[in-house]
Amino acid sequence: MPNMEVRTHTALHVLKGAVVKVLGNEAKWTASVYVDGNHGRLTVKFNRKPSNEEIKEIEELTNRKIRENVPIKIYDLPREEAEKRFGEDMYDLFPIPESIRNLKVVVIEDWNVNACNKEHTEFTGEIGEIKIKKVRFRKSKNLLEISFDVI
Ligand SMILES: [Zn+2]
Repeated sequence: MPNMEVRTHTALHVLKGAVVKVLGNEAKWTASVYVDGNHGRLTVKFNRKPSNEEIKEIEELTNRKIRENVPIKIYDLPREEAEKRFGEDMYDLFPIPESIRNLKVVVIEDWNVNACNKEHTEFTGEIGEIKIKKVRFRKSKNLLEISFDVI
């Protein structure tokens, strides 16, 4: 079993995919992520507080994708090639310095693509299950924070 922080970090990728499926492309920019043990927090740019139904759907889609136990693919590519293949969708709001010429791109097929050099589980099923604990919309900054636990 991979360690808890690896599972929580990997959950961020699955959760992000669900966030974009439910809230649309407007939610595609990740502003920050946070992991501490089984606690995780995803912060994306967004323009409103989602409804309770949307939050529930995000949680359900995330857990469904975990249960599907799909592979988490890692592509190690020269930056130009990665950009050609995946475009801006792989990037977050925090930029990767230009000096970094090779990118590791984490791909969950038809779900989420993200340049990320951290450690991940091999399959989504290793994550376990997530529970969304708190959702906060910071209107002044247009930031949506989704806090969850891996249970
Ligand atoms: Zn990652």
